[in-house]
Amino acid sequence: MTVGTQELLLSRIRDVADYPKPGVMFKDITPLLADPEAFAALTGMLAALCERHEATKIVGLEARGFILGAPVAVRAGLGFIPVRKAGKLPGATLSQAYELEYGQAEIEVHAEDLRAGDRVMVIDDVLATGGTAGASLELIRRAGADVAGVAVLMELGFLGGRARLEPALRGAPLEAL
Ligand code: AMP
Repeated sequence: MTVGTQELLLSRIRDVADYPKPGVMFKDITPLLADPEAFAALTGMLAALCERHEATKIVGLEARGFILGAPVAVRAGLGFIPVRKAGKLPGATLSQAYELEYGQAEIEVHAEDLRAGDRVMVIDDVLATGGTAGASLELIRRAGADVAGVAVLMELGFLGGRARLEPALRGAPLEAL
């Protein structure tokens, strides 16, 4: 990424303190989405990563992974698969529970959307603790598919998500733009 592009993207991410709860610095990408030049630069870079890692399908994580992953899928000429919070998909699903700081969460995918031979790139806006991305890798592998990698706009390094995700990546790349 050129310095100019990096500056453009960084300038379009808004830090919102104490949202959604005290102590959290929320990374708001809505200014980036509203800027066609920045949005196109971001989706172009994510599509190039999909090509470099020879992905054949894209999984987007609810909800901002849908906003980023869908245009990347169109640009890269790949299918888009939504991984959703439990109870939102109408068909037969695979489910994966994972630990949050307090309590548990569960994500699901339509079982028929992933199969052996697929190489899947997972896309989201922010990698925080890595719990959501890690659970999505479990889902992908349980469906019989391979992981091409995980690609995010931002990694919150101080939360240790990369280290937590490493065993689930099994050598696949984590790309944080
Ligand atoms: P985690 O499972 O902890 O890696 O959390 C990742 C998910 O939560 C992603 O889908 C992010 O969109 C969202 N998220 C977590 N922390 C933040 C943050 N500080 N700013 C924006 N989104 C966040």
